[in-house]
Amino acid sequence: MTPLEPILKAQIAAHGPMSVSQFMNTCLLHPEHGYYTTQNPFGSSGDFITAPEISQMFGELIGLSLAQAWMDQGSPKQVALVELGPGRGTLMADILRTIRAVPKFAQACNVYLVEASARLRDVQMQTLADHNPVWLDSVEDLPDGLPVFAVANEFFDALPIRQMVRDGDGWRERQIGVDQNKLTFGLSDPSPLTALEHRLGDTKDGDLVEICSVAPLILRSIGDRIERHGGAALIFDYGDWRSLGDTLQALKGHEKIDPLQQLGQSDLTAHVDFEALVNDLSCAYSRLTPQGVFLERLGITQRAQSLARGLKGDALDQHIAAHKRLTHPDEMGTLFKTIALFPTGATPPPGLEI
Ligand code: SAH
Repeated sequence: MTPLEPILKAQIAAHGPMSVSQFMNTCLLHPEHGYYTTQNPFGSSGDFITAPEISQMFGELIGLSLAQAWMDQGSPKQVALVELGPGRGTLMADILRTIRAVPKFAQACNVYLVEASARLRDVQMQTLADHNPVWLDSVEDLPDGLPVFAVANEFFDALPIRQMVRDGDGWRERQIGVDQNKLTFGLSDPSPLTALEHRLGDTKDGDLVEICSVAPLILRSIGDRIERHGGAALIFDYGDWRSLGDTLQALKGHEKIDPLQQLGQSDLTAHVDFEALVNDLSCAYSRLTPQGVFLERLGITQRAQSLARGLKGDALDQHIAAHKRLTHPDEMGTLFKTIALFPTGATPPPGLEI
């Protein structure tokens, strides 16, 4: 039993069954026993591997796309370069190294990292020390008045979701309760839900729909700044235009496990509902595009070939496998999607289209 189990059981005993969202929040971010507080999630020894950890090419191409978007918007002298949920800081380090090729953009960038985990902030501090980053608890704390160039990779999938199961014209919420001293899933009584009125037309009894209330608020805050002061945001995550079905997933040592086991010691995620994410933005956004297509448009194959020239043996094999992993439809190329935010009337960042 992990230390979180009695804590969750006590909360349920005191307040009744909890939503999946409360459960995710506690398991991921509990100040003493939460996953991001205590574990080392990334890499081959961790629980999962993300695109920037697979290959430097991911961050390089994003850096070039942002640099072009900055030039397309008249090369503003000071901007906020923001990452949401920077993990080990690898993506930001690759972006900052790449944009040295556009020195005026590199000089214009003030780096902000929105990170909830004190442990990961320490890791980011080591990776990014030369760039004097400023850590923020929330996007609301970003300085006002600066254009915002933002990236987020596998950030929105870590935010807590609620799961609602259709029952007539209402919805039952999937909850976690205790049965015979074991955590177990159950369903609340049905009730109508304004937030899901638009889903009554495309779902039937028993269908499960996921909602993440906090994700659209975070993106709206970024979108408002982009609309008012300029900039762009590139969002990468797994998911689709509209949520349907149970996508709550627990990963431990690269294997899927039961989300109610190893509490606080496995990574919990859910697919991103991109339609809900960009709903009500004040700025413009691009078409949702498979990650593989985005990277190909930016020339990942040419970059891969150029890097391959300096490699041989195992390193070359790994490099070829990494290219395939990022782009191939059977790997991350299609499951992962990209969407960009940009000011109304501006050109989308290279790699994405309206
Ligand atoms: N972008 C990184 C890490 C992805 S993991 C990569 O691609 O490798 C998710 C990241 O989001 C972690 O850094 C985690 O600590 C952070 N995070 C999760 N929930 C958060 C929240 N509510 N606020 C801020 N950061 C959060």
